[in-house]
Amino acid sequence: MAMSRSERLPLDAPALRAEFPILQDRDDGQPPLVYLDNAATTQRPQQVIDRITTGYQQQYANVHRGIHRLSELSTDLFEQAREAVQRFIGARHSHEIIFTPGATGGINLVARSWGDSQLGPGDEILLTEMEHHSNIVPWQQLAQRTGCRLRFAPVTAEGLLDLSGWEDCLNERTRLVAVTAVSNVLGTINPVVTLVRRAHEAGAVVVIDAAQSVPHEPTDVLAWDADFVAFSGHKMLGPSGVGVLYGREELLEAMPPFLGGGSMIHRVTLDGFTPANLPSKFEAGTPPIVPAWGLAAAIEFLDRVGLPTIRAHERLLTEQTHALLNALSGVRILGPSPDQKAGIVSFVVPGIQANDLAMALDEQGVAVRAGHHCAMPLHARLGVSASVRASFYLYNTPDDVERLGQAMDCALKLFRRRH
Ligand code: PMP
Repeated sequence: MAMSRSERLPLDAPALRAEFPILQDRDDGQPPLVYLDNAATTQRPQQVIDRITTGYQQQYANVHRGIHRLSELSTDLFEQAREAVQRFIGARHSHEIIFTPGATGGINLVARSWGDSQLGPGDEILLTEMEHHSNIVPWQQLAQRTGCRLRFAPVTAEGLLDLSGWEDCLNERTRLVAVTAVSNVLGTINPVVTLVRRAHEAGAVVVIDAAQSVPHEPTDVLAWDADFVAFSGHKMLGPSGVGVLYGREELLEAMPPFLGGGSMIHRVTLDGFTPANLPSKFEAGTPPIVPAWGLAAAIEFLDRVGLPTIRAHERLLTEQTHALLNALSGVRILGPSPDQKAGIVSFVVPGIQANDLAMALDEQGVAVRAGHHCAMPLHARLGVSASVRASFYLYNTPDDVERLGQAMDCALKLFRRRH
């Protein structure tokens, strides 16, 4: 008997999908949603939803404050969530894991704390043209505050980081290098290990924006040798409102606190304060308690499926998408070939607005993102103002990609008939 496409997949996507309530049959008789906006945010499996519900129903109190039993339980679970993150990314110490509101929060923390205390006129920060606004604007603000200078390494026409251009920008004035592990528009996978090594040789500290890589492939921050790594829970099946900043212990120890308030202090008098130890020093106020538990449940789910398997699965879907889109006339895929990218496929169709195309796909039950995807400089570099982006996760199936292809075919016929 011939095998169906799904049976040849590295993972059983239809079975996994059954664990996601939002992706099930709809009351209106329409086919289930084809959700291809995973680079923006992912959906949650029942396991994560249950973890949040149980948390609020049975375990919730503020952490690190009370001596009552519920607060102790809540605190233990919060610290266990930190340890789950530590294991997941291979950090040495759990106090190197700072809970933040998301990747944006983590990058801003580094800019405010490390950046404000370390940089001044004459210093340089090296970024790339493919960064998300979250890895551009905090550095622009830092440059405004301190007088340091930003440099942007070029992206090739194919959508790869231009490595010799990047090297040309690296010099003895470079104090910080910030780079995305995976482009949220092009899907391009950057050579993090090489970039970190070269940056360190130049004496720079390195921030990795891992918002698009941690959810989709195994992460080992020690193998990367990165100084800071930021990512978001909501892009990896976890709740929104929680993210992670990993920081190397020596750097975090030496940095001043960013936000001030409760929990981040050891002692306060009317004359001043002494900061708490790590990680509390960087977690002022009540942290995202239940979201952190939800994130730990998401990590359990991802561990059960296996990151290498997820990566292989997304690679197949990406290849299938490239083949389908390339077979349609006039579609221009942005970024490199599937072997050099993660499960993100952005494209444009000259003469058709990206927004109009995405709306036409949505009418056929296919959810994609259209716009600049918080990467306006990259779109300007590629000579387009907006693009349509399909991005995958473990619950997407080859049938989803087929439905994208069919919906695109219909949409293109419709638009071309009109003009
Ligand atoms: N960096 C990249 C590469 C991203 O894709 C995103 C989310 N689109 C962010 C940073 C910001 O993440 P968040 O909005 O969760 O802080």
